[in-house]
This record gives sequence, structure tokens and C-alpha cells, in this order.
Amino acid sequence: MGKVTGFLEIDREEPRYQPASDRIRHFGEFTIPLREAQVVDQAARCMDCGVPFCHGDTGCPVHNQIPDWNDLVYNNDWEEAARNLHSTNNFPEFTGRICPAPCEEACTLNLEDVPVAIKTVEQAIADKAIKSGWVKPQVPAHKTGKRVAVIGSGPAGLAAAQQLARAGHDVHVYEREPKAGGLLRYGIPDFKMEKDHIDFRVSQMEAEGVTFHYGVNVGVTTPLSTLQAEHDAVLLAGGAEKPRAVDVEGNSFDGVHYAMPFLIQQNRRVGGEDVSGEFQLSAAGKHVVVVGGGDTASDCVGTSFRQGAIAVTQLDVRPMPPELENKLTNWPNWAVKMRTSSSQAEGAIREFSAGTMKILGNAKGHVTGVECARVDRKRQPIEGSEFVIKADLVLFAIGFAGPLQDGMLSELGADLDKRGNLFADTFTYKTSVDKVYAAGDMRRGQSLVVWAIREGRQAARAIDNDLMGKTDLPR
Ligand code: FAD
Repeated sequence: MGKVTGFLEIDREEPRYQPASDRIRHFGEFTIPLREAQVVDQAARCMDCGVPFCHGDTGCPVHNQIPDWNDLVYNNDWEEAARNLHSTNNFPEFTGRICPAPCEEACTLNLEDVPVAIKTVEQAIADKAIKSGWVKPQVPAHKTGKRVAVIGSGPAGLAAAQQLARAGHDVHVYEREPKAGGLLRYGIPDFKMEKDHIDFRVSQMEAEGVTFHYGVNVGVTTPLSTLQAEHDAVLLAGGAEKPRAVDVEGNSFDGVHYAMPFLIQQNRRVGGEDVSGEFQLSAAGKHVVVVGGGDTASDCVGTSFRQGAIAVTQLDVRPMPPELENKLTNWPNWAVKMRTSSSQAEGAIREFSAGTMKILGNAKGHVTGVECARVDRKRQPIEGSEFVIKADLVLFAIGFAGPLQDGMLSELGADLDKRGNLFADTFTYKTSVDKVYAAGDMRRGQSLVVWAIREGRQAARAIDNDLMGKTDLPR
């Protein structure tokens, strides 16, 4: 808790953004952080609510001890707050930036639509801790002599590798891409999270003894069996990259793409990687239609504006959330937040209950528009409601259908779950193959960074326990 009467005296306040007209001129972060004294005030709003739902399973998958660090910040003990926060979350500067904050949804003050600004306080603690030099490598006192391979360096792989190294194991991370971070680096744009945050953690982990091997596509360039033979345990954290199929007439016209190649290329460009030899997938000077209503679609909207799109229309098959329909401003509502980011406020036209019926194209084979229709609650088109949106670029951001099966998973031949994800037990993280574990999106399907961190931590604990017969790693 913070100040007993804080929630009665202090209004909820969140960081402001640079105006849309300014922020779309660059790809960097654009949040204007609160001043330290303002953050202390926000922490003071945390009340002694008896049962703090914010750090239960639905509020915070990593079980951050939110009332405790709010109290520490309120009492100006930032260093202890940072220690507490890091005891449950390896990378609070990631989640402080990009988590949709289910903790705020769970906050008791959300009954009045003014939850504690938990995410803002989390980011402030994490940023201050790094800036002040309090975040140091934690080199294990003893080595176990065990060797563990982690495949994939997204948030699940990174969290697991860090925990395993701190338990004294010799940890090797194998990553297909030239840099670490997974979707944090190549999916999520810099305007949501700049990549030096990942670089900082990679340096910390290297100092803790983790070895990163880049450009290794396990199951393609290096057989998984080689890594199984060389390591005492193998954790698969390869994400869920398979795009959901686009079953719409006209989807083969030039200018129709999946969202990920578009986002990945821009992230690589911003990150200084050479993309000059590739087909340039750009929204500059184009009418863009983004199909989809989640995080990936929002990121396509923001990226399109920054590349210089003329107009961006977002098609969401779901109905308009009541909060938007009634023009209520009772933010944040988690369900709405999951569908709306700062990107829509940069000038996107949003069409709700909008089904994508057909992609239209010209004789040269290039897309010219999207034929849409309003859909009912069962997502069936309503006769007579058809309309056409002009388009030179159409981006499909309609979700993922589990992990890629070619390569690593087909070589492994382990059981999949009903949704096509790699099956691994919820508690032991074991797959059906001996000494092979799985965590993150590869196991649970497309999800959130905070869930990936949780699964990475828990899988590390399970592996440590299996290797050593006991574990001191936290849950
Ligand atoms: P990933 O991050 O996908 O990492 C998997 C890694 O494994 C990759 O680096 C990949 O290269 C590597 N790999 C795969 N196969 C192999 C192989 N055979 N050999 C070697 N390496 C391999 N979540 C949020 O909480 N907030 C957001 O704002 C948010 N925005 C998002 C925006 C977009 C565009 C997308 C696509 C997702 C977003 N998410 C967001 C979801 C979040 O990014 C994922 O849930 C999370 O990154 C999953 O982590 P992971 O470690 O399981 O997998």
C-alpha cells in the first residue's frame, strides 16, 4: 500500500505522449515520463485493499508484489523497490513499457475506473534502477557443471536463460536471427520499446555467463539432435510464428502482405540492419488498409504513419467496444486497451463490424481496394451493407496459428496440443521427449510478453529441479 488516504486525495495520472503530429516523424519512444514526485504520488494511491488482486494470477502473471513496491516508492526507497520488482520480473523495463497491464484491470480502484497507475510506477522504478547502476550482473557463486541449451531469445528464452545461469548452469542460447529479443526486437516497433533495453539485458546476461549463438536456425542449419547430445537439458522457446491463413478472394494481388514481414523489415531498418537488397515493403505515399484488431494491427497502423502513408484504415471484424461507442472516457478498460493503442490516435480511420469480403485489383495485378461488408454478431455479412475502401497496400494482421512445424519441431516429433502448439506440461514444462522442455508462445500460443517471462522463469525452475534434484530458484 501507499498512503492510507492517497486514493481519496490524489487523481490518477499517466504519462503524456508527444503530439501525434510530432511523434509520427520518428520511430523512437514518445512517452513523456512523469516527474519523480508525480510517480511517488501515483504510488501513494495504492490502498490497503486486503486482497490485492493485482498480483494474483489474473492480475500479474509474474506475481509482481505491487502493493509492496508502491509503498517503497511512496516512502522514497527506490532502491529497495527495484530489488523487490526484480525478485519477480527479470525485465520490468520491458513490461513497464508494453504490458497491457492486467494488474490495472484487477486493481480494486478500477471499480471506480481509476486504478493505480501501476505500469507507470513499474517503468519508473525499472528505468531509475538501470540509470542509477543498481542493476548489476548476478554471477553465481558456484557452477553446477550442467549445460543447458535455450532455443530462441524472445522474452521466454531470455528469462529462462538468465534464471538458469544464476542457478550456476552453463547456458547457451541459440537464436536464428542476428540479434536477441524475438518479437521484442523484430515485431514490436521502436516507438513502443526501443531496442537498447534489450541490448542492456543481453550484456548483463553475458556477464552472468550466458553464451549467445546467433544465426543458428535449429532444425535447419544445426540439427536439434546435436544440441540434445551436447546439453543436459534443452528448452524450446521458439515462439508461435505461423500466420493465420488469409482466405479472401484476391489475396494474391501485389501489395497484399502479412503484417509481420512489414513490421520486421521496418524494425531491422531502424536497427541499422542492411535491408537494401530486399523488396522494400513500404507504406510511403499509399492508402493502407490494415485488417485485424489486435496489437499487431495497431503496430502496422503506427508504422504506416511513420513511413508516410496518405491514409490508414483499420478493419476490425468485431463490433465497436461500448466504451468507444458511448464516447465514455473511462480508461483504462483492459478489453478496450487490448484493441486500441496510441497508434489509432495518429489519424487512423477505424471500421468496426467490418468483414473483409474481397481484395480488388487492376489489370496489372496490383491491389486497388478492399470490398467490405458490415457483419452481424455471428460475423455474417449483412446484405446491402457493402462498401469499398481504396488501397495500395493491404496488411493482414489476423493472428497466429501456433509455432512453425517445419525444421525444429518436425525433427523433434514431440506431441502437439489440440491447437497445434508444442505440448509441455503446465507445471513441469516437459514435452513428450525426454530432457526437452518448452515455454512461451511456442507452448501457450500467441500471448503476451509478461506471460513469456513467467513461463521462462517457471521452466528454468523446473529444469533446475530436474538437473539438481532441488531448486532454490523463485517461482
Ligand atoms: P518470441 O518473442 O516469438 O521469440 C521466439 C524466438 O525464437 C525468436 O527470436 C525466433 O527467431 C527464435 N526461433 C524460432 N525458431 C527458432 C529456431 N528453430 N532456431 C533458433 N531460433 C529460433 N505482447 C505484449 O505483452 N505487449 C505488446 O505490446 C505486444 N505487441 C506485439 C506486437 C506484435 C507485432 C506481435 C507479433 C506480438 C506482440 N506481443 C505483445 C506478443 C509478444 O511479443 C509475444 O507474446 C512474446 O514475444 C512471446 O515471447 P516468446 O519468447 O515466447 O517468443
